[in-house]
This record gives sequence, C-alpha cells and structure tokens, in this order.
Amino acid sequence: MKTIASELAYFLRGRAQKNLKVLFAYCAFLVILVLIYAVLFRVLMWNLEGREFSFIAGVYWAITVMTTLGFGDITFHSDLGYIFATVVTISGVIFLLIILPFGLISLFLAPWIEDRLRHQATYELPEGTSGHVVIFGMDAITRAFIRKLQIRGISFVVVTPDYDEAARLEEDEGLHVIHGSPTDIEVIAAVRTDSARYVIVNLSDPENVNICLTVRSHCQTPIATLVDDPEHAGLLRLAGANQVIPLHKILGRYLAVRSTTCGAMAHVLDSFGDLKIAEIPVHGTPFSGHTLQEAQIRQRTGLGVIGIWERGVLTMPTRDTVLADKALMVLAGTREQLKALELLAGEKEEEDLIFILGHGRIGCAAAHFLEHKPVPFILVDREENPSCTEHIPIYGDATVRNTLMGAGLDRAKGVIVTTNDDNTNVFLTLASRDMQPHVRIVARANSEKNVDQLYAAGADFVVSNASVGANILLNVLESKASAFLTEGINVFRRSLSKSLAGQTIAGSHIRVRTGCSIVALTLPGESDSKVSPPPETLLEAGSVMILIGTPKQEEVFDTVFMNES
Ligand code: ADP
Ligand code: ZN
Repeated sequence: MKTIASELAYFLRGRAQKNLKVLFAYCAFLVILVLIYAVLFRVLMWNLEGREFSFIAGVYWAITVMTTLGFGDITFHSDLGYIFATVVTISGVIFLLIILPFGLISLFLAPWIEDRLRHQATYELPEGTSGHVVIFGMDAITRAFIRKLQIRGISFVVVTPDYDEAARLEEDEGLHVIHGSPTDIEVIAAVRTDSARYVIVNLSDPENVNICLTVRSHCQTPIATLVDDPEHAGLLRLAGANQVIPLHKILGRYLAVRSTTCGAMAHVLDSFGDLKIAEIPVHGTPFSGHTLQEAQIRQRTGLGVIGIWERGVLTMPTRDTVLADKALMVLAGTREQLKALELLAGEKEEEDLIFILGHGRIGCAAAHFLEHKPVPFILVDREENPSCTEHIPIYGDATVRNTLMGAGLDRAKGVIVTTNDDNTNVFLTLASRDMQPHVRIVARANSEKNVDQLYAAGADFVVSNASVGANILLNVLESKASAFLTEGINVFRRSLSKSLAGQTIAGSHIRVRTGCSIVALTLPGESDSKVSPPPETLLEAGSVMILIGTPKQEEVFDTVFMNES
C-alpha cells in the first residue's frame, strides 16, 4: 500500500506535478474538440442528408472516427460529408493517436523510469568502500549528526525505506541516500556494512531491534541505537547493539538538573575514567556572588571550575570571574571531590518546587529524576500519558493563564518547558517569565532553529534535542575521545607529545598557541588525575592531558602538538 502511495506521490511533486497540469489541459482540449465535431456532425447530417441524430450519437460518431475505429454504422453519403469525416479522422490520428501517447511517454513515463533507475534499492556502494557510517532513519537528530560528520569529513550513507524521502534527501539536500528496506540483508550488504565504521539505528524500537538482528547476521560492525523506551534497552543489546542511547531519559535528566535551584547536587555530564565532568548550580553553593579566587573551590574541594554557563553561554572562567547566582559551574574532578562540594553546599532551608509543562516521554523522565533527588514537582499536561501510571499531572492547557496560576505557578522556583511543539515552548517560556520574573526556566528545543527564540523569550537554559542526540552519537563514534558540554566547546583527552615533555605548563604556551586549557593531568604510573594543575606543573613524558577548547582550537592543538612522529 505504502509503495503505491509513494509511487502516486511522485506525480504530485516538482516537475511531474507541472506536467500533470499540462495533461489535464490537453484532455480538456480533446473533450472540446469531440464536442465541436459532434455538433458539426448533427448540423451537416441534417443539412446535407436530411437525417437527424441525437447529440449522444454525434459524440459516439466523433470518437469512433477520431480513434479510427470507424464501425461504419453511421456514415455520410455526400462529398462534403466525406471531407468532414476525413478531417475528423486525420485530426484524431494527430491529436489522439500521436500527440497524446507521445506526451504521456515523454512527460510521465520516461521521467518516472529515469527516476526509478536513479534510486534503485539494489544500488550499491562501490566495492572497497570502508570507514563510513551507515545511518538508518532520518530525523532532527540524525540530521544534526550528519552535519557534524560533514564538518569532520567522515563519509556516511543514509538508508530509508521511504522512496519519497530518499528522493528528496538526495535531490534537495545532496545527501548520499539509498532507498531500500533496512531489514533487507541485500541492502545491508549493498551499503557495505561489513566495512563500515559504525551503524547508527534511529527508527522505532521494534524496527531498531529488527535492524540490529539483520546487521548482526551479516557482520560484526559496531551498532549504536537510540531507544524510545529505556525498558527496551536490554532487548536491543540482546539483538546485537553495542551502544543503546536512552535519549529521552538523558534529555529529561538534562532539563531536570538544570531546573533545580537548591539542594545543590552535581550532575555528571561525562567522565574520563575517574575524572568526572559535572555541572552544579551556583545558587545552591556558598560561592554565589564571589569571584573564583575568593571562592577557593580548588583549595577547598580539589575540583577545577572549567566553565561557567550563563543563559546558555559557556565561558572559560578566570580568577576574577564572578559566580553569578543564576549560573551553573562546570567542574572537573573525582566523585569524592564532587561529594565534598555538595557537603559544602549543605542543606537549604528554602523549598524547591519545579513545574514541568508537558508530560511526554521527556517530561516524564525529568519527573523521575526529580523524584529520586528528591525535589517536589508539579506536572501540567492537557492529556493523559498512556505510558505513565506513576505520575498524576494537573490537566489543562498550559497556554491558558489560569491553568498555570491555578496550579500555583507563583510558588515555583523552576519551570521545565517540555512540550513537543516549539511554538508552544516559546509561548510558555514567555508566559512563565511574565508571571514569575525570577523563576529559573529550562526549555526544550525540538528543532535547533528555535534555540535562540527560546533564549529571547526568557529561558535560562535551552536543551536542544537534536544537538544533545547528535553529540552523544558523535561521542560514541569517536569512542568518547571528547565530552560534550555544548555546541562549540569540547573536552578532550590527548597523550603528551614528545615536544611537550619536560616543559612546564606555562613554558609549553599551550594556551597562547592553541587557545586550549589543560583541565587535568594524569602523570605516568598514576591513576588519579591532577585537576586544574598550576602553571608551574612539569609535563612529564607519558602523561595524559584532558583539555578544553572549541573544536577549532582542538584542531589547532592537534596540528601544533600532535602532528609529529
Ligand atoms: P516527548 O515524548 O518527546 O516528550 P510528547 O509529544 O510525547 O513528546 O510530549 C509532549 C507533551 O506535551 C504531550 O503529552 C502533550 O499533551 C503536551 N502538551 C503539548 N501542548 C500542550 C499544552 N499547550 N498544554 C499542556 N500540555 C501540552
Ligand atoms: Zn510520568
């Protein structure tokens, strides 16, 4: 059914659609011609031969003569009649038997066959193709992921069962797309999955399971798959997935941790062995309003502050950076050091209350996270979430002022805006900011395009589904050589190159020459990392560095310090 529909859809697109209009106009011309001949037939029969025929008989006569069927049951018996019949026959041959089929072939059949040939499911990647990424399923996440692959010059191929989508992606976006069923072993072989670097699977959970099984029956290339329901993770692993990414759960946690304003708890974003990269709101700590130097965080806990988030902008702090109450600190250190900081933050008397607007999968995951901390929260949704039996939201349209006011938004310390519609999210952010000017608002952007609008509407923090998803996929692909903080800032690990050995950090001029800063240093033979090492620290041969910088700075670092042998 789907194929017939997609075949028909071909005729409603681009050039084919224009041609279809031409065909309709031509058919209208033929109908008018037949009607004119029918009228002329009646007039001539009556005037030349005194015979009377109905209008229907006229139409019948015109069609049989034009199509050269000529049954011979109605004929003229006068010269003028013969001439008229001849003209009708010749015009029929020209308009009906020559131009019409020719038009149908050149306007529809030929382009259609050409189109089919271009996107044949049996189309193969050239033999010897290797190191590419095979992607099953296109959405905002894989789209963002593809952009990252393109920047890095990593080749990829997209497989989609939807012919229309394949044609559109290839024609409009210039992507390398193969149209075929992702569970067809021939398609799996045709995209050279066996020599691929990674397989990324991003369809529904049952489809993902099926694809993992098919790929595994063919080869051992690592597979990363996104999962809708975290409970399906086990099944996907069983089916052969190496990495299962519960994206909705991760996004829910990202939103939740950034929404709480007290009971300061560090949220680990990523880790390099024992070294954790974590976030903590300044608000819950005693450092609010102090400069980094006054706060003495490293001296008191051993943690390094490697970044400061403020209204979605991550900056690398200096000694004089003031820790604003609404900011989040990005920290590097061990779990014990993070615990020490949480202890310093201590219990807060003030009560936290988070409003979660939208109880879909992500809103529900955020609620679960807050439940475990525990932080009190109120869910608002206009509908029941059939897959959640644990939470009882307040039902109502969140865009209606009375719904939020009635639910007690004036008591909220934080708001998580997480509906599936970005326009609604922008509206809700603006409305929440208007009703509660000092509340902390964390909003979800379903499309990267809307991140700026959400900040403009007053969000303190925006989490973009596509960006987070794409970065997680990239981390998986690059075996976690770098951790994701935000678009444009990387934390990455490098072994010390020969040229740097024996120098101090200050003497190496890493920051001056590349813009990158050393976050932590692991000396040879030691398992613990030294976080935020002072400038006089000696870089010993065999050490491993963790650095922070923009992707460009990371590249410069590699060119300056790693391209030696
Ligand atoms: P996801 O699972 O990705 O979080 P969903 O579409 O399942 O996305 O969830 C979005 C939720 O937001 C739905 O439960 C929907 O009912 C809710 N929602 C959307 N618009 C509004 C609104 N104006 N007021 C209240 N809830 C809304
Ligand atoms: Zn729930």
